[in-house]
Amino acid sequence: MTILRGRQFLHTPGPTNMPDRILRAMDRPAIDHRSSEFKRLASECFDGLRGVFKTKHPVLVFPSSGHGAWEAALVNTCSAGDTVLMAETGAFSDMWKKMAVALGLAVEYLPGDWRHGANPDAVYDRLAEDRAHNIRAVAIVHNETSTGVTTRLSEVREAIDRANHPALFLVDTISSLASMEFCMDEWKVDVAVGGSQKGLMLPPGLSFNGVNKKALLSARSSRMPRRYWDWNAFMPDGKTPGFLSTPSINMFFGLHEALIMLNEEGLDRVFARHARLAGAVRQAVSHWGREGAVELLSRDPREHSNSVSAILMADRYNADDLRAACIKHTNVALAAGLDRFSGKVFRIGHLGDLNEPMILGTLSAIEMTLKKTGVAYRPGGTTAAIDYLA
Ligand code: PLP
Repeated sequence: MTILRGRQFLHTPGPTNMPDRILRAMDRPAIDHRSSEFKRLASECFDGLRGVFKTKHPVLVFPSSGHGAWEAALVNTCSAGDTVLMAETGAFSDMWKKMAVALGLAVEYLPGDWRHGANPDAVYDRLAEDRAHNIRAVAIVHNETSTGVTTRLSEVREAIDRANHPALFLVDTISSLASMEFCMDEWKVDVAVGGSQKGLMLPPGLSFNGVNKKALLSARSSRMPRRYWDWNAFMPDGKTPGFLSTPSINMFFGLHEALIMLNEEGLDRVFARHARLAGAVRQAVSHWGREGAVELLSRDPREHSNSVSAILMADRYNADDLRAACIKHTNVALAAGLDRFSGKVFRIGHLGDLNEPMILGTLSAIEMTLKKTGVAYRPGGTTAAIDYLA
């Protein structure tokens, strides 16, 4: 067995690299979650989260993966039989749709080709047609992690406004939060769904619902049975987030540190860093792909994701073989293509605690693996990325 020294370069688009500062902050005994020490820490976390979501409204924290916050968003705002308008962007919009169907919602799913974001005009057309206002909510995945495509969310918001439709706006910001611009209040997002294991640089295990007044009001009339996900149970006074059950205490130690780190860097600089690193990845991919062996899955430059790139390989190649060779020889972990892109796509997560040498190291590992596995790539992608960054 070959032993690979050094840290693994983790390029799954969640979980992401956990900085030592966060690991150290979590590496301590639990404390009494009813103590004033924990209450202070949690309250600072709730405040800090509002900054990251760009909202003045409360952000609730669930002890769960992102699926929990998806479910909470639906069961608090809707009742069985309600119509929800969703847009097909990829594997994650599919999963959220399946959840909505399982909960008894009537989902209208705007079709997509998994290479574009949700189409704001299609949202407008459907809402404008719905004169009786039967559509209760529009639910959109901001950054489709399976395809590396970002939906132009502000344009979807404009479409809802243009149609003068009262539908709630539910947004999954799981792989855009703290890595790409997301403005809950400015875009009038009623429920924002987040997760800990991406831009927040934490382990998986916490999920979030940012909820504004309109969303809280809708929860009063929603008749979906719920307890664990009930916003009211986590925030009885409707203003101050708290806990229904034992909180994930050590995750809060990590979250506290993550928020300090994001604050130190400043969100705008965090977004600029992600944009720059994503730009370097795209330079490399477009250079490698000059002979047609690989291409970026995202088709519209306005929608290229700054947190993850999905790379489509020509039919004659197997992307899983490339990933297997990459981890075996270089200890660089790339993410698999999901669902219809299984074996056809590999993904490079470039979000969270990441800098230029890390991304350049990864690009050179990929370039080396393209060579080793006989892919007809054009050499020099890594140099193109260096030129771009320099
Ligand atoms: N939504 C998006 C955009 C995601 O990327 C993910 C996970 O990667 C999820 C939802 C589901 O989150 P989880 O796997 O934490 O339940």
